[in-house]
This record gives sequence, structure tokens and C-alpha cells, in this order.
Amino acid sequence: TRTKLRMPLHHAMQAVHARLLPRHEGQVASYIPALAAMPPDLFGLAALSSTGKLMEVGDSRHPFTIQSVSKPFAYALALDLLGRRAVRDAVGVQPVGDPFNTIELDPRTRRPFNPMVNAGAIAVAGLLTDALGDRAFPTLQARLSLAAGATLELDSAVHDSEAATGDRNRAIAYLLRAAGVFRADPVRVVDVYFRQCALRVTARDLAVMAGTLAAIGSNPLTGAEVFGVEAVRDTLSVMFTCGFYDGAGDWACRVGLPAKSGVGGGVVAVVNRQLGLGVFSPRLDAEGNPLRGLLACEALSEELGLHAFDAT
Ligand code: GLU
Repeated sequence: TRTKLRMPLHHAMQAVHARLLPRHEGQVASYIPALAAMPPDLFGLAALSSTGKLMEVGDSRHPFTIQSVSKPFAYALALDLLGRRAVRDAVGVQPVGDPFNTIELDPRTRRPFNPMVNAGAIAVAGLLTDALGDRAFPTLQARLSLAAGATLELDSAVHDSEAATGDRNRAIAYLLRAAGVFRADPVRVVDVYFRQCALRVTARDLAVMAGTLAAIGSNPLTGAEVFGVEAVRDTLSVMFTCGFYDGAGDWACRVGLPAKSGVGGGVVAVVNRQLGLGVFSPRLDAEGNPLRGLLACEALSEELGLHAFDAT
């Protein structure tokens, strides 16, 4: 199941980085006021092979907040801790062509469509809070850190800024509790979600986290067993079908990799059993995805033949 790369990965990463570096379209996210402080033109790329080879180009060690890139990892944790049945009862696996912060449940099930949109991710935070109480956030932080092979710290300025402006997400949390998705206090649940989003990472950390999914749950750098096989399979499936909100189908065709982006500028992409990619580029396109991050994944997929259904 291994793709033979068409050229050495490091050369391709350097070429893609140099080619995209002068692209300055898009804006840094500002709906969370503290995010707007990020220098807009940073650009880092990192990759970790499932055999443990790490490659980095550009600003791959510059910290930023993980935001929605945390969603697949929180989902994998919930699957591991609570089991597929309990998680599937609370959150669907149905792609939906809506923006990330839509206040909407699947009318057939009264559950969020999938764990990659905010409603689904907040439902996951609710399940973890019901099960773990005050340990929910520390458990998330510890497991994501294990996946990154580094201690991921909370960026409290970004957390406080999102908490001060996050009424839409609080509204989603109230709706979810009213629908019976979780029992915990919605304000507490959404704070677990805000903390999860405000964990500080680098492109290198994201590459290691993606590499951990690529290596079916064991961290290729540290050897730590982070996620179970079934959790990884379900997580990669929803990343493939739902990872890009309204652009998921387009992404699946063009790039053909399970992936997830965040408004902090991070992107992860996974080449199953082979490679994890992490990109950092804070300027976002009109849909709220890191513009050069997406282009970099697309170019690497194209040039190295990484598309899941590549046949050339
Ligand atoms: N914390 C952000 C929110 O829920 C994450 C959004 C994203 O990265 O797409 O608004």
C-alpha cells in the first residue's frame, strides 16, 4: 500500500515552499481578536515519514494555535475512551456543505452531521466532559501532546479572546444539550473546546501528529502508542470526507488525502501508512482555510503522486 514517491520528498518540499512563499493573498483570521496579531507571511512546512524521518522547511518551528486541526485528534481520543457506539450515537459521519460554525443539526437524527464542524467538535467535548469532568481538558492536552511528541501548552491570550467573543459556539453548546447530546453544563463544555483550540503547536508538531495517524496510531518519532487502530480508521475516514467543510468534495478530488485545516493557519494531511504533513501559513482564503497551506498540500500530492487514488 505504499506509494513510491516520484522525487525525494525534501526536494519537493523546498521547491513548493519557494514557489508559494511570494503568495500574499488572503487575510489572517480576526474574528478571534488575538489571532489577528500573527505576522501574516510566515510559512512553514514539515513532514514525518512513518519510519520516523522528519523534514522541515521555512517557519516550521513558529508557534500558533491549533484551532480546528484539533478536531480529528479529539475525535480519535473520544473513540478510544468511549467506544465507537457511544460516539456515533452523539455525532454523525455525514459530510455537510456548510460553513464550520453553522448552528444546525442533522434533521433526521438531531445530532451534529460530523465531528469536523463546530457542532460535532463541541459534541465531542461534551462527551469527554460527561465522562471525565474536570479531567476532560487535561486528558485532551496530554493525548494531543503524546501525538505531537511534545508538550502542547495553552495560549491563554487566544483562549481568553475566543471565550470573550465565542457566543456562537456557546449557542451551539446549548442547542446540543437541549437535544440530549450531552448532560454537562454547556458553558463548561464550550470552554473545553476553546482550550483545545488554543493549544499551541508548530508545523513540525502537526507533521508529527499527522504522522502518528499515518502510522496507525503510534508516534513514529517517540514510539508512543497514542490511538487505537479503529479510532484511527474512523478518524481518517471523516477527515477524508468532511475535513474541508463546504470544500470537502473538491478537496477529495484535487488532493485526495485526509486532511484538516484551522483558522490559526495550520493544516495537517495524512498519507495513509506513509507520511504526515504539517503546514503553517496564517493567511486564509474566502472559506477560512490557510491559502498556501492548501496549495502546498495540493502541489505535494500532485508532484509526488500522493492522491489516495493515484494510479500513474
Ligand atoms: N476555535 C475556532 C472556532 O470554533 C476554530 C475554527 C477553525 O479553526 O475552523 O471558531
